[in-house]
Amino acid sequence: MKKIWQYASYNLLSLFSPAVGQEHWHCDMKRGFTKARKKELPVKTLLEQDTPWQKIGLLAQKGVYEFHRDTQLLDSSDGIERVAEIIQLNQESIEVQKRVTHSLENYHKTPILFGKNLIKLSRGDEGFPEPILLHQGNYSFNFFAAIDCIFLEPDGKLHILDLKTGKSEFDRRQGFIYLLAARYLYPKQPAVASFYNLETGHWSDPITATSVQLDAVQMELARISQQHQGDLRRYRQNPADFETIFPPNPGLPCQYCQFNSICQFSTFEVSA
Ligand code: SF4
Repeated sequence: MKKIWQYASYNLLSLFSPAVGQEHWHCDMKRGFTKARKKELPVKTLLEQDTPWQKIGLLAQKGVYEFHRDTQLLDSSDGIERVAEIIQLNQESIEVQKRVTHSLENYHKTPILFGKNLIKLSRGDEGFPEPILLHQGNYSFNFFAAIDCIFLEPDGKLHILDLKTGKSEFDRRQGFIYLLAARYLYPKQPAVASFYNLETGHWSDPITATSVQLDAVQMELARISQQHQGDLRRYRQNPADFETIFPPNPGLPCQYCQFNSICQFSTFEVSA
């Protein structure tokens, strides 16, 4: 069977274009490092290390997973400590420990998924989900949507929930992408999507989409997938054009960029 290399996902979309209000953090060169130069040793090494905020998100999600693997932990007065032990939180930096513990305390106090009809709850480290093969005109591509949690509403609707940490605003585009995935994975069921921030306890309003809106999301994914493949091809043919194909945006974004130690355009001073 012919291997399909073309793909799209929310991650690719966010590397292409920032969420509303996040424009000043955007830098297209990060897409270049992440996707075009990911096999080069210095880049590979950086990509293999989770950043503190990635660790916080992953461990907080693992914590929720553990609370629901053994729901007695939600009732138990030492449930938070026991979950922290299972996810080996003591091996992390003080900042990560503090913020994940705060998320676990929040969740222990308000376990929003308790009593829900859970269809799926991910640990967060399962790796790539199975791709969904999409066809848009003559173009075919693999569509990846890593879903954290799905539960069934009492009225039979599927509810796709994305667990968040940090301060960023929810990106509605991600909700639409989950609804597009649901259209293919559960074609007969109506669905809504929402976001829940484990650090702040803020739950977004449910997001719904019409079939026409989902068609538009699929077209946009096909467009960025095609453009991305074109950029990768151009880079392979002319590696010296890296900065033209993936233009840098030095300044504010460099401060939290995982490539700031190897990027020649970085304005952030990395301590030795
Ligand atoms: S260090 Fe700055 S310019 Fe370089 S990739 Fe990161 S954000 Fe872009």
